[in-house]
Order: sequence, then C-alpha cells, then structure tokens
Amino acid sequence: MSTPARLEDNLGFACTDLQCRLGRESAVAMRWLGPDGERTEFTFGQLAVESSRFAAVLARLGVAPGARVFIMLPKLPEVFIAFLGGLKARAVMGPLFANFGDDALLDRLGDSRACVLLTRQSLLKKVNRIRDRLPDLRHILLVDAENHLAADVLSYHRLMREASADFVVAPTSPDTPSILHYTSGSTGKPKGVLHVHGALPSIVGTTRDVLGVGAGDVFWCTADPGWVTGTSYGIIGPWAVGATQVHYGGNFDAGAWMTILEQERVNVWYTAPTALRMLMREEASLYAGRHLEALRCAASVGEPLNPEITFWARRTLGKEIHDSWFQTETGAIMIANRPGLAVRPGSMGKVVDGVEAVILDSAGQPLPPGQQGRLCLRRGWHSMFAQYLNRPEVFASRFHGEYYDSGDMAVRDADGYFWFVGRTDDVINTSGHLVGPFEIESVLMELSEVAEAAAVSAPDPIRFEKVVVFVCLRPGRSPSRELESRMRLHVANRVSSIASPQDVVFVASLPRNRSGKIMRRVLRARFLGQDEGDLSSMETWHPGDLGDRRERV
Ligand code: ATP
Ligand code: MG
Repeated sequence: MSTPARLEDNLGFACTDLQCRLGRESAVAMRWLGPDGERTEFTFGQLAVESSRFAAVLARLGVAPGARVFIMLPKLPEVFIAFLGGLKARAVMGPLFANFGDDALLDRLGDSRACVLLTRQSLLKKVNRIRDRLPDLRHILLVDAENHLAADVLSYHRLMREASADFVVAPTSPDTPSILHYTSGSTGKPKGVLHVHGALPSIVGTTRDVLGVGAGDVFWCTADPGWVTGTSYGIIGPWAVGATQVHYGGNFDAGAWMTILEQERVNVWYTAPTALRMLMREEASLYAGRHLEALRCAASVGEPLNPEITFWARRTLGKEIHDSWFQTETGAIMIANRPGLAVRPGSMGKVVDGVEAVILDSAGQPLPPGQQGRLCLRRGWHSMFAQYLNRPEVFASRFHGEYYDSGDMAVRDADGYFWFVGRTDDVINTSGHLVGPFEIESVLMELSEVAEAAAVSAPDPIRFEKVVVFVCLRPGRSPSRELESRMRLHVANRVSSIASPQDVVFVASLPRNRSGKIMRRVLRARFLGQDEGDLSSMETWHPGDLGDRRERV
C-alpha cells in the first residue's frame, strides 16, 4: 500500500512555503557571498516566490513530473532557486559541477535523458559540441542572457519575469523521484543515483541531531551542489529546519574562509578533510586572534578524517570536528560524531537514529566488535536511494538479503564507534593481511614534513600486494632518502611492519575528484603505467577544489 501524498513531503515546499507558514517569511534563508565581495540576502519569502516562478517556467515549457532537469553552474543564487523550483514541480533535479568536460556531460545528460539544462553562456560551447547526441534535450536556459537566443536557447531571467508566482505544488508521495546524483566516480564510471522526496525525515533528523542545526542558526556547508553533501546539507536539511545558510561563490582561499566564519558568525560549518588539510598547511598566524566564538562546531564528510586534523583543529581553532560518514546512495548521514558524543580521534562516530549499521564478513555473516569487515546497512532508512538509473543489475548486486553493502570496510569497537578502514577496492592485501590505506596515511601525517599521503597497492611476487605511498610534503620541505627511511620506520612502529611502504613516491599534489576525494585508483594506475580509466569526475586543475575554480562568476 503506498503512503498518501502530502504537500509537506515535497522537498521544495518543505524548504520554502512551509517555512513561510511557520512564520519565517522574512527570516533570512540565504546569505549569498559572491567572489568579489558582493553580499545579497534572500528571505524564505523570496525563496518561496522565486522557486514557484521556476516551477511555473518548467510547467510552461511542458516539463512533466519525473522529467529530468539539470543544472550546470557554479554556486550562484539561481542554482538554489531553480533546484527548489524543480522539486516543487516534481521534476527530477540533476545538479552538475560546472567544470565537467564534454564527455562527462554527455554521459550524464545522455544516460538520464535530460530535457532541460540550466547553464550560462560561457558553458554553452561545451553543450553545443555534444548537442546532436542529446535528442531528448529540448531546452537550454541561460542565467546570463537578457533575451532568448533561439527557440530552444532561452533567457532564464526573461522566463522568470513572465512567470507567475502562484504555482500550486501538488501533494507529493514519499516515493516520488526527486534528485539524480551521479556518484563522484572515485572507483569507476559514475552511476546515476536516484533519490525520492521521502528522504526528508533522514535529512532533517541528521541536520538537527548530528550537525546540531536548528531554526535561526547560521550554517555554512562548503560543498558544491554537484555532490550529495551540497544538496542534502547545502540546500534541503538546513532550510527544512529554518536555518540561515551562508553560500560562498568564490574559490577556496584559507584567509577568505576564515573571514567568512568570523564575519558571518557561522554557528556550524560543514566541510571536508581535503579542505581541512589545506587549512593545516597555512601558518599558525592566519588563525591567531580570530573571533570564532559563534562557531559551535565543525563537521567533516567525504573522506576519512585523519586524527592529525582533529588535533590541529583543537589546537589552532579551539574547536572539535565531528566526522560524519555517508554516501550518495545513503542520501543522508548514517554514522557520525555529534554534539554530546565524545570524539575518539580517527573514528567516524556512531550510527544515527533510525539506521542499523553492521559489519559483515564476505559471506554476509555478522562479525564481532574489533574485527574488520564490510560496512552494511539494514535497508529501509528514509533516504535510501531508489535505484541506479538504467542499471538494475548493479543496484541488485549491492544488496545481500536485508542489507545494503556500502562497499567500504570498517571496524566497530565494543562501544559502538565505527572506524573506517578503506574502500573495499582500496584495501591492500599484503603478506596475508588486509591493510587499510587510511591508517597508513594518518600515521604518515604525524611526521611534521608530511602534508598529506595516499597509500595504494601494487602487485608483488612475494607479498601478493605491496604498499606504495604517494606523499605531498609541506611547503619548504624536500624529499630525501633519510625521510623515506623515517617514513618506513614510523609506519612499521605505529601500524605494523607489514604495512610499511615498499615504495615512496613524492608528488606535488594528489589527484582528486570534484568533491575533493583522493583518487587512489588513478595513483595505482599511474604507478603501474596502466590506463587511468574514467576520469570524467577528476579535478585536474588544483588539489582540494571544493567548488568551481575555473569559471569565475
Ligand atoms: P563511486 O561510488 O562512483 O566510486 P564515491 O563513492 O566516491 O564514488 P560518494 O558517494 O560521494 O562517491 O562517496 C561516498 C564514499 O566516500 C564512501 O563510501 C566512503 O568511501 C567515503 N567517505 C565518505 N565519508 C567518509 C568518512 N567520514 N570517512 C571515511 N570515508 C568516507
Ligand atoms: Mg561509492
């Protein structure tokens, strides 16, 4: 029996009109900080009106519920308005990183049969090059064209001016498709992960309990909407609880970020280890005398949080960092540290309410505390993905009976804290032992010369696999044989002699995808001189990119 459709279950409605009905019409929903210092505020009332206009635009263009609408833009106010408007119209919204190349774009728009793309003129060339291979793409909307350029290349603002704000949102049942995210492709070809409107309770619950964000708080999520964190917690969660969100359209810059935390009096900040590692490289003077009294805590997601980052944040910022674990497929945080739970540095924390996480062996049997195995979740949490678009066989392969297999390896301790070991594909099988890259990388970061490190496996005739580490040094430090030996010894002492790297490769930067994750498969392929595989989601410009760096607003 399907659950009845309700208005407040529509994600777009819950973030806007519902907030107005709760008396927040004139409360600030978004403080938009542009790259050149401009600052614009949007109230919940304005978000409600503007998003309804966009819903009306889609209706006028003949976009039916369930049709796919994509947004390929850097962080701009229009992204948020269109995203919410599309959800109100029950279109399936697909956010894309603005700096995707032709192939990445073709893969995603083609696979999803997108009918509308919202973008801007500087990105149009890219779309035009692949347009003839996208027969379903009926309309391109441009946020920076005053007038329509062709019958199918239209001005967003002109359409918005002509649209009515009286769009009536239809009651929406929880199983209605909502968002389509292509996973970042850290391990392979990106898959279209389809979510539903019924995800709302998971997202709202974790926004409140894990991030500790409620009405009136100032929240800053640094993720781009092209990544699940940027939609679940950079759009939906905070607005559905009535918080004010800071959104910054500029590039990563340590000084600018610290100034935002200070001047905007951010209460809760949600970011990623890659950004934190970049902040750690800065001189301590950047942080001295900062007024961060408003900041209650920071949270981290996307990659394991090395204990060194936790110690640095305590020392330098005087703040605790709460790690959180989730995936595109889970739609919301599943395991996390949170207010009221003591942090064990290096642990992801405990499972959130309403979720059951277990560690299973490769035969699907539960493992006792202290043993590493596959991190699995009992199916049925609200924000569980509905399907991998067009790939039912891959979807089915991720479930073993009642359990969804995350593809990550972890350990649960006797007190219920979860410790990340590595992705199943990244775990190194050496001399008869399974060694997780995270542990090796974290201990290497304890050496003052090391800014960051990535451990990967390579075939070895004796050990089956050997450990190879790629290391980035801090500014001013240089590679040497002596340092290499010290690294080997340190890993042997702190982890085990089996985990000690056979090869150390010094590099200026590590390859990352657009959500900032280190791409170990690319390092492995490079080391072995093999094909690097699908690189469509790889950031090639600069390490630590969390948003759009190439295209300035
Ligand atoms: P693909 O599945 O296409 O390879 P992806 O897994 O990188 O892409 P995401 O869904 O963005 O795409 O990433 C989720 C993964 O990120 C998790 O499965 C885990 O490996 C890693 N991750 C996320 N949060 C944490 C965390 N707190 N600690 C350790 N790893 C994390
Ligand atoms: Mg994944």
